[in-house]
Amino acid sequence: MFYPGTPTVNFSMGAMVDSLLGALVGALLPGRCTICRGAAADLLCGPCRAELPWNRVACPGCARPQIGPAAFICARCTVRPPPFEQAWSAFRYAWPVDAAIHRLKYHADFRGARWLGTEMARALSARPEALPQVLLPVPLHGGRLRRRGYNQAMELARALSRALSVPVDAAAARRLRATEDQIGKSAAQRRRNVKGAFAAKAQRVQGLHVALVDDVMTTGSTLAELAAECRKAGAARVEVWTAARAV
Ligand SMILES: [Zn+2]
Ligand SMILES: [Zn+2]
Repeated sequence: MFYPGTPTVNFSMGAMVDSLLGALVGALLPGRCTICRGAAADLLCGPCRAELPWNRVACPGCARPQIGPAAFICARCTVRPPPFEQAWSAFRYAWPVDAAIHRLKYHADFRGARWLGTEMARALSARPEALPQVLLPVPLHGGRLRRRGYNQAMELARALSRALSVPVDAAAARRLRATEDQIGKSAAQRRRNVKGAFAAKAQRVQGLHVALVDDVMTTGSTLAELAAECRKAGAARVEVWTAARAV
C-alpha cells in the first residue's frame, strides 16, 4: 500500500489564511496560538484549546455526547448493543474540528492529522482502560485509495501509534468492495451499504484487543460492520476510536 509522507495537494497561502481552519492547522506563527494569535507554547493557547468541542461525557457504547457529570450506556445501546466493546471519540463534530477533518479528508492535510491524532492520544492515555494491542485504520477500497493517494484513517492511526506506542496493522483488514458515500443515507441504508464490505484476517487479529480508527463516527454502521468482521476473525476485544462524533 502506498501512503505518501507528504501531501499530494498544494495550497496557496491565500487560501490557507482565508479558511478559518487554515488558521487552526495551516498558517502557523511560531509561539502564537493559531486561532487567536495570542501567546502559545503549542499549536493552540490554553483557553482556545479548552474551548474545543471535547466529547468528554459520552455513551461508552456509541460515543454519543451526553450531558451530565457521568457517562452511562444510552437507551439505543441498551436496546441494540453495538458489535464492539466500546466506542470513543475525542471531539464532537463541530468547529473547528469538523473543518480540520474536512481538510484532512479532501485536502491531504497531514499536519491536521498529526494534530488530531496527538490530541486523541493525550485524551486516550488519561483513561483508566488498558490500551489495545493493535490499531486498525478503517480501510479504503483500492480504487479510492489510489485516487485520493492516502487513507485519512491511516494518517490518524499513524499519529496515534507514535504517541501511544501501539503498532498499526493496515493489512489486518481490507475493504472488499467500493461502497457508496454514506452522506445523506438513513441508518438502515448505511447498514445495507456497508454489509459485507470488509474482511479481517484471523491470523492478524485472533485473540487480540484491537482498536479500529476512523476520522468520524456518524451512525457507526461502517465501524460496526468492520468490528463484526474482526469479532468473527477472533479478535478478543474491539474498540472504535474516532476523532469526532457526529450526531
Ligand atoms: Zn488562542
Ligand atoms: Zn450509546
